[in-house]
Amino acid sequence: MKDTTVENQLRYLYTLQQIDTQLKEVNELKGDLPAIVEELETKVENYKSEVKILNATLKQLKIDRDKADVEILSLAEKIDRYKNQQLNVKSNKQYDALTREIEAAEKKSLQIEKDMESYEGKMETTKRDLEAINEQLQKAINELSERKEELRSVNKEHEKEELKLKHEREKILVRLDKNYIERYERIRKAKGGLAVVPIKRDACGGCFSRVPPQKILEIRQNSKLYSCEHCGRILVSNHIVGTSPEV
Ligand SMILES: [Zn+2]
Repeated sequence: MKDTTVENQLRYLYTLQQIDTQLKEVNELKGDLPAIVEELETKVENYKSEVKILNATLKQLKIDRDKADVEILSLAEKIDRYKNQQLNVKSNKQYDALTREIEAAEKKSLQIEKDMESYEGKMETTKRDLEAINEQLQKAINELSERKEELRSVNKEHEKEELKLKHEREKILVRLDKNYIERYERIRKAKGGLAVVPIKRDACGGCFSRVPPQKILEIRQNSKLYSCEHCGRILVSNHIVGTSPEV
């Protein structure tokens, strides 16, 4: 079963690397989305509770405003009544007492008018805040539904793709020398998932360090496993890259 010529082993290693890179990409794609969806769900919940709080605030401000409105009207009636009474008083003392009542009522009315203005100002601000938050909420809801859909389809896609890649991986593994597999896995783990790289423009395709010309010539022989002197990744010739086996 095993094709033990180094050249073919190198081909299998390079193919294994490609499969693992694809698996990593698929996993990364899937790995991000659940977190994004969860984050958006929290965002939507937060916006919703903010909207709830702002609506309650607005409701209370309206009640306060209406109450102030009624008070101002009743104070105005009171003032009218006092003024009418002043027309019929018998003494200066009574007249002055009513004047004091009128002044007190007017003062109170002015204060309540100020309060009312402040309620109305706050209502305007709250309405604007509500509008802004509602807009953000709607945006978050839309994004959430998009991302959820994306996650569903990635999951679906991912299942098939992952199975296919894992199957291909198994087929490669049975053809590979155990020592090569161990070496490959060790480098892959240490080097962010990239263990086998081609030579690109006389440099290592992993760390981009220059590969000496003599070594490039040797690598082109495809008769031995060569590692990059700088990063330790397995270097393969363009010939290997171009003729990787179908699995
Ligand atoms: Zn390197």
